[in-house]
Amino acid sequence: MVAGSSPARPTIFQKMNPRLTNRLVDIAQGIEIEKQINRRTRHYAFILNKSKIISIGRNKLKSHPQVLKYKYHENATIHAELSAIIKSGSISHKNNKLITFRFDKSGKLNNGKPCKYCQRLLSSVGFKEVWYSNSKGKLVQL
Ligand SMILES: [Zn+2]
Repeated sequence: MVAGSSPARPTIFQKMNPRLTNRLVDIAQGIEIEKQINRRTRHYAFILNKSKIISIGRNKLKSHPQVLKYKYHENATIHAELSAIIKSGSISHKNNKLITFRFDKSGKLNNGKPCKYCQRLLSSVGFKEVWYSNSKGKLVQL
């Protein structure tokens, strides 16, 4: 689709810039090295306003009071998407987009599609655009 061919689409909602997505992956890998994260699955979520990073979330192995507030199932751990929203300090994300991806055991991008609880949360706080890594390691729009 050519830019401008869909007038109803706000200008911030453009296709993901590959340079930007590569940068996000680099940042996530940097966090992994810095924090020495060595788990089977690692999810990251970035909240962006245009190309500015508002917050970065990652999945945690522990729970949090917000987990129940946002109607995740009991004993749910903190998902990367919720972590990014909590860190952003904002409950309205109408002008922002969220990009989430997962590294698999071998460190490759793999399916990081938001679960049904996160999908409900993401739409309730207003994200109009959500991107995730699919099983082929490509970022696709939800
Ligand atoms: Zn989730």
